[in-house]
Amino acid sequence: MSEEKTLFQKIADKEIPSEEVYSDEDYYAFRDLNPGAPTHILVIPRKPIPKITDATEADAALLGRLFLVANKIAEAEGLTEKGFRYVINCGDDGEQTVYHLHLHLLGGRPLSWPPG
Ligand code: 5GP
Repeated sequence: MSEEKTLFQKIADKEIPSEEVYSDEDYYAFRDLNPGAPTHILVIPRKPIPKITDATEADAALLGRLFLVANKIAEAEGLTEKGFRYVINCGDDGEQTVYHLHLHLLGGRPLSWPPG
């Protein structure tokens, strides 16, 4: 693993400011700088897994709990009843721009499908 911190590690470690939504020992969540919906939150494991496809069997529980943390945030944001969307972009065609695994939580308006 590289010694250089990822952008999102720097954000989770408060070296770069962000609007915190949730924090614990293993996860950090913050509002996206360029929101694509009224609520747009990024939920990250503190562990810098670059892409979802880099996760291993050892990450199974971490990935599972990522969704449970996100569910709690969705509930706290009042999104559970009307619904919302989780997105994980992967690689170039997925338009992933930050190579630290993150789950987008988008909600607060009807979301069209399929995405662009
Ligand atoms: P990706 O395309 O990699 O799935 O999504 C990266 C997301 O991170 C984008 O939605 C982008 O707006 C957001 N982002 C990039 N840099 C920053 C930053 O410095 N702060 C915050 N809060 N969001 C960022």
